[in-house]
Amino acid sequence: MSNSRKIKEIRIRTEWCKGCAICVDVCPKNVFAMKRFKAIVTDQDACIVCGRCEEACPDFCLEIIPDELSQQE
Ligand code: SF4
Ligand code: SF4
Repeated sequence: MSNSRKIKEIRIRTEWCKGCAICVDVCPKNVFAMKRFKAIVTDQDACIVCGRCEEACPDFCLEIIPDELSQQE
């Protein structure tokens, strides 16, 4: 258990995605794939919430929602 942060959700604003595949390249856990020139999530459970994809997407399509946010009261 090297990372205690967990992912709640990966949101992709598909309508903004231009299919550049940068997210596929930067993700260290191969969470994304391309389908019909749009990014899709293929393995959300593998996400380590590193934030690289959010920072790298030139069109602000990606939103990583860590699980702890949902636990804050
Ligand atoms: S936050 Fe990191 S591990 Fe999770 S999908 Fe983005 S690049 Fe991949
Ligand atoms: S980096 Fe952004 S625009 Fe490029 S494929 Fe991924 S979600 Fe789409």
